[in-house]
Amino acid sequence: MTSNIKVRFAPSPTGHLHIGGVRTALFNYLYARNQGGQFFLRMEDTDRERSEQVYADEIISSMKWLGLEWDGDVEHQTSRVKRYQEVASKLMAEGKAYRVDDATQAVKYKMVKESVVFHDVIKGAIQFDASLFDDLVIIKSDGIPTYNFACVVDDHDMEITHVIRGEDHISNTPRQIAVFKALGWQPPKYAHLPLIMGSDGTPLSKRHGAVSLKAFEEEGYLPEGILNYLALLGWGPGGNQEFFTKDELVKKFSLKRVNTTAATFDIDKMRFINACHLKKVSKEEYLQRGAAFFGNSSEEFKRILLLFRERIKTWNDLAREANYCLEEKVTFDPAAVGKYLSDPETLKRLKIVLVALENTADFTAKNLESVVRDSAAKLAIDAAGLIHPIRVAITGFSVSPGLFDLMEVLGRARVLARLGSVIQNFGKLQSS
Ligand code: GLU
Repeated sequence: MTSNIKVRFAPSPTGHLHIGGVRTALFNYLYARNQGGQFFLRMEDTDRERSEQVYADEIISSMKWLGLEWDGDVEHQTSRVKRYQEVASKLMAEGKAYRVDDATQAVKYKMVKESVVFHDVIKGAIQFDASLFDDLVIIKSDGIPTYNFACVVDDHDMEITHVIRGEDHISNTPRQIAVFKALGWQPPKYAHLPLIMGSDGTPLSKRHGAVSLKAFEEEGYLPEGILNYLALLGWGPGGNQEFFTKDELVKKFSLKRVNTTAATFDIDKMRFINACHLKKVSKEEYLQRGAAFFGNSSEEFKRILLLFRERIKTWNDLAREANYCLEEKVTFDPAAVGKYLSDPETLKRLKIVLVALENTADFTAKNLESVVRDSAAKLAIDAAGLIHPIRVAITGFSVSPGLFDLMEVLGRARVLARLGSVIQNFGKLQSS
């Protein structure tokens, strides 16, 4: 299906792309793809002091990383300055705009003092009393257009049919519509997305922790996890489904189901959704992507990746939780030692199980399980009475992936060395 729907994501490259910007990009993308329309990327880079090439580059690489492919070439406002000046001249020739003074190039649009009503696709009718608006600077003294003016000229020239952007732009809309009308152009439809709030009910910002996309990428979120979560920030297809692939989102997305009220950013939910995507990809893909994230494709590392697959929600969870697999030194959690490695009886049992393990040549999970269970049976205790102390001895913690799989991954040498060291230092472990 194709249509004449045209939308754009129009970031200003004045800072890192943040999660709110990504949601705007995503909703534009989903709408265009759902409707068989086109999705453009436009750099609103006319603020020369604040715009930086590194940010523009970052936006492009982030859009690629997220898989939000745009149509055609990236538009740059700085390459269209002549066009904006021409349009401003036309308005001046028609008496609808004027030069602010003789010394500079600054131009103001003469605001028509009337009320402006527009029908927001998401929020319904919105009315502004433009008699309260001052005349609008459209060209600054250096000849560069202001955002409100460049935006109108571009939205017209690019034949944008729907402007989908954050609610913080609502107050710009009547001004932009006024300029459209003055030029005799048809304004696009406007759809303003609800604000994103932090957990304290104030608009999401750095105060709430990392909000740049880069930070989420570095934390080890999958792009599809981020897109899935952000789609739910202000939109839902109805029903209980929360896991969506990008294709499903494209199929189901509609502006009609975008909420009018603010959405709350919930990092736990985002982690949960990301974990669903980590579980969903094939084993091969999981391994390949994990190896790429960490720059480690050794067989041993792949075994660690698999061992933790069900437990991690981002890649960096692995770095935090699997430190006893990645480093030689075990750091003991004092509470775990207090609970499982302080009873003298445990010391005796560990000595017995160590001998049994030393006699085990084949360190497979299956074998290890029967060795540990046989030792427990010989000691006439529950297997848990050995499993917990062994776990703390070889990891430092009281929780870990399944003990026998873990022992297999750690390997014979490390397991025996760690058990031996615990036996030797029993009673002094709390502080090590
Ligand atoms: N450059 C504006 C921003 O980054 C875009 C606003 C719009 O979409 O019209 O907020």
